[in-house]
Amino acid sequence: MNRSRLAQRLATVLPREAYSTDAADCLAYGVDNSKRSGQAAAVVFPEDTGQVARVVRLCHEHRLPLIPRGRGTGTAAAVVPQDHEIVLCTARMNKILQLDSANRLVVCQPGVLNQDLQDHLAEAGFFWPPDPTSAAICSIGGNLAVNSAGPRAVKYGTPRENTLGLTAVTGSGDIIHTGTRTTKGVVGYDLTRLLIGSEGTLAVITEAVLKLTPKPESTVTVRALYDSESAATEAIVALMQHPETPSALEFMDAQAFTLANEHGQLGLPAQTQAMLMVEYDGSQAVLQALMAVLAPRFPKAGLLDLQQAETRQQRKSLWAARKALSPCLRSLAPGKINEDVVVPVSRLPELLSALRHISRQYGIPIVNFGHAGNGNIHVNILYHPDNPQHVAGIDRCLEAVFETVLKLGGTLSGEHGIGLVKRDFLPLELEPAALDVMRRIKAQFDPANILNPGKAIPPG
Ligand SMILES: Cc1cc2nc3c(=O)[nH]c(=O)nc-3n(C[C@H](O)[C@H](O)[C@H](O)COP(=O)(O)OP(=O)(O)OC[C@H]3O[C@@H](n4cnc5c(N)ncnc54)[C@H](O)[C@@H]3O)c2cc1C
Repeated sequence: MNRSRLAQRLATVLPREAYSTDAADCLAYGVDNSKRSGQAAAVVFPEDTGQVARVVRLCHEHRLPLIPRGRGTGTAAAVVPQDHEIVLCTARMNKILQLDSANRLVVCQPGVLNQDLQDHLAEAGFFWPPDPTSAAICSIGGNLAVNSAGPRAVKYGTPRENTLGLTAVTGSGDIIHTGTRTTKGVVGYDLTRLLIGSEGTLAVITEAVLKLTPKPESTVTVRALYDSESAATEAIVALMQHPETPSALEFMDAQAFTLANEHGQLGLPAQTQAMLMVEYDGSQAVLQALMAVLAPRFPKAGLLDLQQAETRQQRKSLWAARKALSPCLRSLAPGKINEDVVVPVSRLPELLSALRHISRQYGIPIVNFGHAGNGNIHVNILYHPDNPQHVAGIDRCLEAVFETVLKLGGTLSGEHGIGLVKRDFLPLELEPAALDVMRRIKAQFDPANILNPGKAIPPG
């Protein structure tokens, strides 16, 4: 359909300020953090569930493909158009509708930014646990659709564990309400957990009922530097066997540490081969008692340095190395493949040693860091597109990473999602029968295959 005809059709369901077919807008809303790009046919900015339903019905009637989009910070090209899709951007659906302290829930629209929600909740003494590093720039709808999380997931879980219910518009334009407003409920199939992580392929999420957690009274942060990677990974396994679950347990390997140490001018011991950041939260009395027991028993083999912070300023300074890392990774090589694989925590020592081996085998640097308490490691494969050895080995190197992860009982993505970037690797992890069930579920929600077609699941 040509642009002016499309604009005419959109004008039948949306006010003039809520859609654009301008070529510059269509390009600007065709990118995400994967660095891939595509050209949308139009961009629409609905304000509420009713407007979303009208757009989806129009698209269903005319078989126009539609990509739900939050703020485009995803890394898997899940919002990148492939064939002039219409992009439905939730930026104007940015209202926090209800904060119900007694029932520990908040109702909000999908376009609310994660950080704006956290600021609002903090005033009432609550937080919503999912805490991607991108909180200031990503939307709740995106968090839900990718099941995004961050350091706190080790103790508090991901959106799947912190969402009570959703309002959503299916691919045929039906408005459905899933889940409950209660913390218990078993009526019907669990469509809430199905829609979370479905990357906009089953329905457009238009409202969410999120489960709140009271803010802890206090947090204690420990930074541990180790003289070998294996000493650090053994320490992770030991810490996760302790009955008290940390509220964060982050890992950086030698290269990640060196990069952050040098770029951030942190002045930490240069012989460090791995760093752990460990946090516990709770009441002050409980934390004091915990640290009195835990600090002397903190895994000592290979430990170079142990620092504990209690004040906000001290915590900020201990986290400096971890925060300094992401911005400087690209300084190592122009090409970066950023995977976010997960293995059972007890297999982390094997994973990291295998990654070292794969890096040597293909002569391609691999820098690893991430949410070790969940066994979730960001594997950064850094390559130079003009280095023939890198070009020849990069695909095989990536496959070797995935094969290793699956052999260790892991999974290909912990929080970044599949999108286009990882879609074709899915058959490595999921058997044909499981993929077939998923395709049939998609057909039930979206019979005309208009919602984010071609993303998240490989074609049959
Ligand atoms: C600097 C940086 C740091 C990051 N750190 C983390 C991190 O720590 N942890 C982490 O998990 N991720 C992280 N990410 C990735 C990204 O921020 C998350 O995936 C985030 O949840 C995406 O939100 P978004 O609003 O940008 O969604 P988008 O990128 O716009 O969309 C992502 C997916 O959600 C779908 N979608 C969006 N809104 C809806 C809706 N209303 N209904 C249905 N589907 C929808 C889209 O179709 C797409 O499939 C980071 C990204 C950056 C750039």
